[in-house]
Amino acid sequence: MSLSRVAIAMDIGGTNLRYAVVDENAKILAKGVQQTSESDGKEAVIERILDSAKLAVSWAETKPIAIGLALASPVDPVTGVMQMPPNILSLKGYSLNNDLHESTGLPIFAANDATLAALSEYKFGLQNAVSNMVYLTLSTGVGGGQIIDGKIHNGSRGFAAEWGHLTLDFNGNPCNCGSTGCFETYCSGPSIVRLAKEILSETSTKSTLTQHLNNLTPLNIASAARQGDRFSIELWDRIGSYLGVALSVILNTLDPDVIVIGGGVSSALDLMMKAARQEIKVRALYPYDNDIPVVSAKLGDDAGLIGAAALAFDNIN
Ligand SMILES: [Zn+2]
Repeated sequence: MSLSRVAIAMDIGGTNLRYAVVDENAKILAKGVQQTSESDGKEAVIERILDSAKLAVSWAETKPIAIGLALASPVDPVTGVMQMPPNILSLKGYSLNNDLHESTGLPIFAANDATLAALSEYKFGLQNAVSNMVYLTLSTGVGGGQIIDGKIHNGSRGFAAEWGHLTLDFNGNPCNCGSTGCFETYCSGPSIVRLAKEILSETSTKSTLTQHLNNLTPLNIASAARQGDRFSIELWDRIGSYLGVALSVILNTLDPDVIVIGGGVSSALDLMMKAARQEIKVRALYPYDNDIPVVSAKLGDDAGLIGAAALAFDNIN
């Protein structure tokens, strides 16, 4: 029996550097994780990435076909340059491709991490069952990716599908991107916590969350809502309305078969969808009725790694 082909996948974010050996069926055969810290400086971060790649290559029983990189930044689709990594700013304008190729001898392919999560949800969550798909991750930030006619769409400069920076209110709160009132400033985990704290500390609203004001998380706000806390239920309705406005814009501009929503905050998707549906019914041009094409992601935290490996396999085939 011949051994199946394997790729090295690396998911490089602002907090963690994850690396794995992955086969063509998206099975993770071995994986490791290290912390990345901006304070270590650019050279140390790059050295850690190169060392991790060599370690992952040493785990593979057959020679890997390539290395796929999922990067927390818009990525130039040709050069692999990280255009704007918000949490690893020292790597802005840098491409890992040459250094990684020199140290491992393998071909290197890189793309945005949410784009590659989209690819993995498309191939292994939806089993290629549709042609056009949008992926949103509601997490520390709001990221996005899109599949058009079965292929990832990066845009000309790697900035496509940055739905997190869709303006919902041009007089809204400042966003990390420099704009104001972005979708991310309403529906990311930190934004939801900030809004809950603002309302609870500035009003006499009653909530079971009041006693946990210093350790609020989207998860415990969701848990309070499920236990009937009126404030938390209404807060998720409000967040769901913002989500619904953003989803309506996506539906009206891209007309995807389906929008897949992942990231930690998506565990509260059921709490948001009633209000989101109402917005979509009003704002979307297509009459979706009760068949609004929004579903939860299936692959969880490994979506970036699996997508990075899929990118490698797609380019070598
Ligand atoms: Zn923004």
